[in-house]
Amino acid sequence: MTVDSVWQNCRLATLAPRLPGLGLVEGGLVAADRGKIVYAGPAADAPTSLDARRTIDCAGRWITPGLVDCHTHLVYGGDRAEEFELRLAGASYEEIARRGGGIASTVKATRSASEDDLVAQALPRLDALIAEGVTTIEIKSGYGLELEAERRQLRAARRLGRERQVTVRTTFLGAHAMPPEAGGDKTAYIDAVCRMLPPIAEEKLADAVDAFCENIAFSVEETARVFDVAKTLGLPIRLHADQLTNAHGAALAARYGALAADHLEFTDEAGVTAMKAAGTVAVVLPGAYYFIREKQVPPIEAMRRAGVPIALSTDCNPGSSPLTSLLLTMNMGATLFRLTVDECLAGATREAARALGLFDRIGSLEAGKDCDLAIWDIERPAELVYRIGFNPLHARIWQGNA
Ligand SMILES: [Zn+2]
Repeated sequence: MTVDSVWQNCRLATLAPRLPGLGLVEGGLVAADRGKIVYAGPAADAPTSLDARRTIDCAGRWITPGLVDCHTHLVYGGDRAEEFELRLAGASYEEIARRGGGIASTVKATRSASEDDLVAQALPRLDALIAEGVTTIEIKSGYGLELEAERRQLRAARRLGRERQVTVRTTFLGAHAMPPEAGGDKTAYIDAVCRMLPPIAEEKLADAVDAFCENIAFSVEETARVFDVAKTLGLPIRLHADQLTNAHGAALAARYGALAADHLEFTDEAGVTAMKAAGTVAVVLPGAYYFIREKQVPPIEAMRRAGVPIALSTDCNPGSSPLTSLLLTMNMGATLFRLTVDECLAGATREAARALGLFDRIGSLEAGKDCDLAIWDIERPAELVYRIGFNPLHARIWQGNA
């Protein structure tokens, strides 16, 4: 059999679910043809007839699946560095709000940015993630808060997937915050979000629908109204749930068969049980926990006991997690949330792929999947979680291409 590429003399963390732990293989080999993996496993068991147009000697390096950042707000205008500085200098939230800070400032900057501006501002953030081996990224809207600006954010996100060799999944997050002009009328704004959904679905701009269910954002009832419309349009859903209080967001997400429920610091046992029953992935976001100095850790032990898959993501956003390192996120998952090395690595590959509904295509090194590889200069996979601020990426392959 003639194939495009073979990577040999490598060690593999396949993340294949049929194997225990990380699915480690010493003396491994990966073969790919037309962007898809045709074999990943022990070199000794590879098809003997393999004839490669290109053979890469990995000199004993480790190969993992390309990393998957499954929860980001990567596309936005401006930044919040000034607000960060003011807050550290002792300014109150009221003062910052009076100066036009907070999410309102990001909404203003995003609305005034063109699609080109949004792409140009997001590219350095995307490049930082790509430089660490990210091959798939989810990007949300949610700083436009009116149809045209939300569309512009989603179009910019789609364009990022054409500007770089990376798989982009987009999520419509119209129910992220109240737009300043709504005057606090949540019912009317949720009506508006429900009206935004059909044209966004029509233009195929969103692969999923998300909302922020929290006492400072939208209630369970308001969120459910958005999800009802998403369901009728056949769009998968996910949810920012239980980050600051137990608003029973995880249970709501499960009731709607959500792909994922994200944050989950205050989720209770019943929420975890509901997620397990619904097959909803838990996406934990230690960068936001760190940056806003949260005190409550998500119920990791209850998730483990229930067998809920746990994914990890940067939550890259200007207000609560200006983080563009999935490697650092893994370290934070271990140090702050006490995830194991295996959980961190699975959380940034296999389980993140599940959170996007893409595990049939990416997230593990298995025949039939996209050939998305991260090749590392390390002696053991634990180094990817252990180090802080060090990038041992040797090479990154996206759909078979370097
Ligand atoms: Zn988020």
